[in-house]
Amino acid sequence: MRTWPAPNIPALPVAANLAPVRVFDSATGTLVEAAPGSIATLYACGITPYDATHLGHANTYLAFDLLQRAWLDAGKQVTYASNITDVDDPLLERAAATGVDWRELAREQTELFRADMTALRMLPPNAWVSVVAIIPDVVAAVAGMLARGEAYWVDGDVYADLSADPWFGTVAGLAASDPATLALFGERGGDPERPGKRHPLDPALWRAERPGDPSWEGGQLGRGRPGWHIECAVIARDALGLPFDIQGGGTDLRFPHHEMSSSHARLIGGGAARTHMHAGLVAYQGEKMSKSRGNLVFVSRLLADGVDPMAIRLALLFHHYREEWEWTDADLARGVECLAVWRQGVAEAHRATGLDGGVADRVVAGVRAALADDLNAPRALSLVDEWAALQSCAPGGPAAAQAVAEAIDALLGIRL
Ligand code: ZN
Repeated sequence: MRTWPAPNIPALPVAANLAPVRVFDSATGTLVEAAPGSIATLYACGITPYDATHLGHANTYLAFDLLQRAWLDAGKQVTYASNITDVDDPLLERAAATGVDWRELAREQTELFRADMTALRMLPPNAWVSVVAIIPDVVAAVAGMLARGEAYWVDGDVYADLSADPWFGTVAGLAASDPATLALFGERGGDPERPGKRHPLDPALWRAERPGDPSWEGGQLGRGRPGWHIECAVIARDALGLPFDIQGGGTDLRFPHHEMSSSHARLIGGGAARTHMHAGLVAYQGEKMSKSRGNLVFVSRLLADGVDPMAIRLALLFHHYREEWEWTDADLARGVECLAVWRQGVAEAHRATGLDGGVADRVVAGVRAALADDLNAPRALSLVDEWAALQSCAPGGPAAAQAVAEAIDALLGIRL
């Protein structure tokens, strides 16, 4: 799919002794080097295009944007793939409830997402793939699983046999026999009660055509549409190759989505993501921001109200990506104020003739080190804050102003 325009990223002076970028691997609970080689591959699960783009989405994609900026600064060649789940139960339900054609709803919401990502200066994916566009590839993958005995039929639908994958369970660490695991599977789109399945957790790979539902020709699978998890496995395989470095999303994707899609990826391509990263969920008015609760704050709404997108970005960056937190008006006020302080600091430094004695270089090195340490944006922000405050009494001069402004732009995505 056509992505959105890439923001310009200033090239920073090459630094000696850059720390490797390490991130928290939620599968193992340890800090790991995010991509040890010269090539870095990332798959961040995309949106289902309705109710786009709320601040929870923005918070998640911002984490993976920072990761790419850190990788690029380290000189890596980055390939980023993502998807648009443009046919899925929640989208179809919303379309039916509002009397809008599901394709029109998906198109309109994808356009909104594209505009929001552009305003927030997010790096676009190299491969942004619509699920509707890759249905023949999903059909072939599912047919292969059936042929190898890794999938089976239940009344015309096809399910994965999770027992075919000895590594199932290594992403979320949940016991398949635990009733709480089954309950979570049910809450998050699974069907543990479906009769005829070999195991209650086995997920759907192909859903036969139902009256009123969109469907596609599936060859030996018959008409139908794909299950959710197999889509991401197929897209990651085709866009990045398997295995790849990082699979990411919000923490609510850890199970079942990432557990299942990793399992499918191992069976269809011999490997999955080496590392799983999960961003904390953003609450609003006391509860997790979610489509089903309707307590959403939209990026497009804030932009329409005249909020500077860089202030939104800063408001989110004040929270570490793994933090679970609640959005309030105070967050936005803090972002607006921070942006003003930084702009003033750079302007004061620029006007001055003073020599900063390496202060700016130390700030840039500090921001780099903070990002390399599990994307510690709050620490990076406090370093820039201190520098900006210092400029009113000890301004650093134009070179210092330029060095800090370019680092903020390249590493944090904040254009002053
Ligand atoms: Zn996904």
